[in-house]
Amino acid sequence: MARAALLYLPLCGLMSEAVNLRRAQSSQLLTDFPFYHTSEQIQSEARELVSGCAGRATVKTVRKGEVSIDEIRISGSKNSNLERNRVAFLFGEHSRELISPETGLMLLKMICGQASHPDLVEKALETSDFQLILNANPVSRVQVEQGNYCLRDNPRGVDLNRNWDEKWEFGDEALGGDQYRGETPFSEAETQMVRDLLTDFKPTTFLSVHSGTLGLYMPWAYDAIHMAHRNRDLMLAVLKDLDADHCQCPFGAAGKEVGYNCPGTSFDWVFDHLKAPFSFAWEIYARPAEYEGLKSRWQEKLKEANSVLQGQASMSLLELYAGHFSDFAGQSQLDAELQDCFGTFNPSTEAEYNESVRNWAKSYLKLAVLTAPHVALLSNSTAGRK
Ligand SMILES: [Zn+2]
Repeated sequence: MARAALLYLPLCGLMSEAVNLRRAQSSQLLTDFPFYHTSEQIQSEARELVSGCAGRATVKTVRKGEVSIDEIRISGSKNSNLERNRVAFLFGEHSRELISPETGLMLLKMICGQASHPDLVEKALETSDFQLILNANPVSRVQVEQGNYCLRDNPRGVDLNRNWDEKWEFGDEALGGDQYRGETPFSEAETQMVRDLLTDFKPTTFLSVHSGTLGLYMPWAYDAIHMAHRNRDLMLAVLKDLDADHCQCPFGAAGKEVGYNCPGTSFDWVFDHLKAPFSFAWEIYARPAEYEGLKSRWQEKLKEANSVLQGQASMSLLELYAGHFSDFAGQSQLDAELQDCFGTFNPSTEAEYNESVRNWAKSYLKLAVLTAPHVALLSNSTAGRK
């Protein structure tokens, strides 16, 4: 397979203010929701942050055809001999979920000292290195920014979170379908490039960020029956901890929780093929009208998880997971909502936006802090990565 061309770009090549202004004026997104960022603004802000990140951060661009993806890496403080926690974040696989990359940009701001929580940042950097892919579906995202707020797939009509070689054969083969899996596994430039970047980084903790409902998920997504066995209790415990502070929403195995089969996802593939001890997909935004129902579901999940973690539950209890709809399940469940695609997947007010990006960026740092000690221990045990 041809490797992506790697282009190392200068960090200080920022656009002139005049060009920035002209491009901002041509964006429907900034006309409608001026507190969001266009792709170009995300890229230029991220590069500026990297250049001012105390020498910790680098950025490189990979390209295939018209698709160009930036990868940011941040090295923590190497003060111990413990196995480093390599934490990879994937944002924006579905282009209409604009809030996902926005939370990644806030995470980068926090890590590079341009936002709050310096103590948490320092703690995370003691044990963890980071890989951030802020914009995983860049060509379609530009269409979304021009007002096509319902666009989920890449420009070839492929759902990038169904194109990974993990039970891909069970995916939707209907071209034109909202969850079309593509002609072959990894048929798309976007998934090829992200796969290669992740394979090179070898994450010990992986998170793919989505929106359209609230839910913190672990493998498996490929069907609605199986929950991952490897590292199950630790993954569940981490989700339970983070959920209480940051979501109060359903958590557990993705397929069981949403009640649908989602073959071909990035986080199932990373868990299975890269053997990451921790692999997750989170849904980080739902309409406020859904909060009460999601919170009730969380309280049910909490009781189940406590039983599981105390060894009192059999796998049969885990079979009780039942379906709340999710963006993971695609568009068919969302038809009634699509009158307002933007508001289905993204905060519509500046106050909600600010709350969302700060809450989730903080949760990403806490994720690194929570998984790091387990990664160090697992690396010394037969239960760890091979
Ligand atoms: Zn999504």
